[in-house]
Amino acid sequence: MKLLPTAHLRQLSDAVGFDLVGFARAAPIPPEALTEWIAAGYAADMDWMKERAAERLDVTQLLPGAKTVVVFANNYYRDDAETEGSPIARYARGRDYHSTLRDRMKAFRKAVQGEYPGIGTYGSVDSGPLMEKVWAARAGLGYVGKNGCFITERFGSWVLLATVVLDAEVDAYGDGPAADRCGSCRKCLMSCPTGALVGNGRVNARACLSYQTIENRDHEVPESFRVEMNNLVFGCDICQDVCPLNRRPVFAEHPRFAPRAVAGLGVMELAGLTQEQYATFIPGTALARAQYDGLRRNAVYALGATRQENARLLLEKLSEDDSELVRSAAQWALRQLAQ
Ligand code: SF4
Ligand code: SF4
Repeated sequence: MKLLPTAHLRQLSDAVGFDLVGFARAAPIPPEALTEWIAAGYAADMDWMKERAAERLDVTQLLPGAKTVVVFANNYYRDDAETEGSPIARYARGRDYHSTLRDRMKAFRKAVQGEYPGIGTYGSVDSGPLMEKVWAARAGLGYVGKNGCFITERFGSWVLLATVVLDAEVDAYGDGPAADRCGSCRKCLMSCPTGALVGNGRVNARACLSYQTIENRDHEVPESFRVEMNNLVFGCDICQDVCPLNRRPVFAEHPRFAPRAVAGLGVMELAGLTQEQYATFIPGTALARAQYDGLRRNAVYALGATRQENARLLLEKLSEDDSELVRSAAQWALRQLAQ
């Protein structure tokens, strides 16, 4: 097959709604960074990171004959007035980004397959075994900052990534990571409340409140982390909010990134969420990953962290909840009130 023209692929990417696109050669990724991160225990209980490590490092295991990794980015930054002070991370306030990016990625693949019959493709949004930040850096879209986030020139770190692997070459490739603009800044490292940033853009997931509030659904959050969950119920934006490279965000106009009603709820309302309210507010958003009890547990921790006396009645009720996680969180929060 002839080299695919990147100018045309960029037009297709624009047409389906991506903000940025880049192209990387599908060369294997040196294993050291991933294996050392896992060996240090920084993957916490995310066993899938270990189980599919070989595929993460070599995309030809996902698509035989892979030649090119196309990386897309969408800006998602919004600062709608009704979400001011929301305890939900910005990326999760609107429709589930997986479906938004997946729809765009599918449209891109369909267009490419229509124009280049027989071409092999493999696509992933976050959930597949692809090291998206590595590919995005190789494709020249930016670099990984000290906060572990992927930082672009135009949108800062307020971006979501998607990747499509092709078994064909393109006519031009990115020339590796953009220049590191962190310099001597250490704002994110100094601001992380739990010391989860361990240098060189690595995040110790176990200490990260994003991991604790989203992925750690089955166990209690360690007490030393709970006390830092001030107004944090799902995810954490602290290390992005303090970043000077995020000072001039671009408002994401597309309605798919508009906040949903859940982003207008406060910590108390989330702690007291009924099953019926959960069914109204949560499906179709990324918050579903934390599940009903996980969300309420997080909100209860947040109430305890800030010792909200006006939450006492609710906490007393939740201290007898059917969920052991919620019950125990409420009992802890009540003890915080007593201090
Ligand atoms: S998301 Fe929050 S807890 Fe995690 S590294 Fe950033 S500041 Fe720390
Ligand atoms: S806060 Fe500073 S060190 Fe951290 S990612 Fe931003 S520029 Fe880099």
